[in-house]
Amino acid sequence: MTIKEYVAARKAEFKDVVSKMEKVPCIGIVQLNEDPASNAYVKGKLKDAAELGIKADLMKLPIDTSEKDLLSFIDGLNKDDVHDGFIVQMPLPKQIDEEKVKLAVDPKKDVDGFHPLSSLFPCTPKGIMSYLKYENVPLVGKNAVVIGRSNIVGKPMARMLLAESCNVTVVHSKTSNEDLARYIENADIIVVAIGKPGFLDNRFKYKESAVIVDVGISRDETGLHGDAIPGLPVANQTPVPGGVGLLTRLALYENLLEIVSKK
Ligand code: NAP
Repeated sequence: MTIKEYVAARKAEFKDVVSKMEKVPCIGIVQLNEDPASNAYVKGKLKDAAELGIKADLMKLPIDTSEKDLLSFIDGLNKDDVHDGFIVQMPLPKQIDEEKVKLAVDPKKDVDGFHPLSSLFPCTPKGIMSYLKYENVPLVGKNAVVIGRSNIVGKPMARMLLAESCNVTVVHSKTSNEDLARYIENADIIVVAIGKPGFLDNRFKYKESAVIVDVGISRDETGLHGDAIPGLPVANQTPVPGGVGLLTRLALYENLLEIVSKK
């Protein structure tokens, strides 16, 4: 099943669940910037919410909002009865420390799953894991290599793969080329999340049966590019665009429904 087909099928399931709920779930989206990428992400989230029958409340604050004012706005959202959960669209303007913002969101309303005490996983690894399981990709005892160790993708992805009994190796910018090539050659599952277009290419050897999950998104005048060149000699490779981005969007609402179900 392609990712697009998978997302359409899961959306139909979610829509059905939402239609049977007594109260329509409500997600808050706080946006402080107007950069084209953020606008595109927010537009996608609003479109998904409308499709699923979920109420989305977009709250735009001025770009020069101070950190103190944003934190007090977040405090209000943490306490209100209107929003079941909310997100603060990243990146934030320079005057605001993103880490402080992530920690200010009440873990019980943290749809992005960024808070260290959140019981939810960040949307990108969560979306990827749901897809791998749905597709019955063998995980137990398999060699997984995660390229990149960010707090929102690489590290939680590694934890989730480990929880499924994969043998997990996390590599990063300090990993030698020789080691990287060796790990990749032995990998059954490769998740690449570094933001370097075409980093995975034919200079590496791959298992024919390997699955490559391409998280990277880099934009240039020709469009969006992943961290892997298309058409690598493996069993399955997720495309960019139309791949992990869609899984991430879906997982946001999977997280919201989890929050609502725990109330
Ligand atoms: P990040 O915070 O910038 O982290 C990048 C990671 O890549 C770091 O751990 C870095 O290693 C590692 N790295 C950089 N160059 C490397 C190299 N040559 N070899 C091996 N590792 C290298 O990035 P992020 O937020 O995780 O995002 C990564 C990419 O995924 C970006 O393109 C982003 O746009 C995309 N993304 C996509 C989605 C989606 O839904 N599709 C969601 C989130 C992010 P060090 O730690 O050693 O510096």
